[in-house]
Amino acid sequence: MLIDTHCHLDFPDFEAERDAIIERAREAGVTQMVTISTRVKRFDGVLSIAEKYPNVFCSVGTHPHNADEELDVTTDDLIRLSAHPKVVAIGEAGLDYFYDNAPRDAQAEGLRRHIAAARATGLPLVIHSRSADDDMAAILTEETGKGAFPFLLHCFSSGPELARVGVELGGYISFSGILTFPKSEELREIAKWVPHDRLIVETDAPYLAPKPFRGKRNEPAYVAHTAEVLAQTIGVSRDEVAAITTENAFRIFSKMPRL
Ligand SMILES: [Zn+2]
Ligand SMILES: [Zn+2]
Repeated sequence: MLIDTHCHLDFPDFEAERDAIIERAREAGVTQMVTISTRVKRFDGVLSIAEKYPNVFCSVGTHPHNADEELDVTTDDLIRLSAHPKVVAIGEAGLDYFYDNAPRDAQAEGLRRHIAAARATGLPLVIHSRSADDDMAAILTEETGKGAFPFLLHCFSSGPELARVGVELGGYISFSGILTFPKSEELREIAKWVPHDRLIVETDAPYLAPKPFRGKRNEPAYVAHTAEVLAQTIGVSRDEVAAITTENAFRIFSKMPRL
């Protein structure tokens, strides 16, 4: 049993065969998944998918790429929308200095509003951080000082220092298909270091398909391949890694029921 804690089932890539994708996930042992919001404006579409499938849950939030388009979304809006029983997380929000699709101050402002919503609701914040290690570490440290909030660093691709800060502040580290790529030696070194009770797996589908599907469209069933590489990396069996990451997922996504 595995949980795909981060996918984007509302993306047009999946439109035509969503039923089949969710069935293939089930066949691969992926019993539950969390489809992640990237625009509050499109939250209705995300929520309708979570409402349609009993084993799909969702988040609410604004991706840093879209931060400047949604500065009208307040912390209270996020809190209100997250009251729906199918909403189990806030985000994804964060900092992406690799693409810099939105001004950095707008990304930071959005991130802080999402942090406030996570702190108020107790729902985990799904954090997207790319090429922004220092600023992310500083904001997480400062905001945790104001009051702890649950969070996970999703699709972790940052350096060891951000991993260390994240774990020290009580956060979880989520690995995607990037962990399986031959060049991800440093990432696998980080995975070996992360305490077992903080490890999470995800696909980030439709992006970042793991080996052997690299370059193709990703889907929740493939999280099994990332889990397998994580098992080899940290030196446990496939069953053990499934048990570890599933327990962790239920601990941090505490609102998500076990089906
Ligand atoms: Zn992301
Ligand atoms: Zn994502």
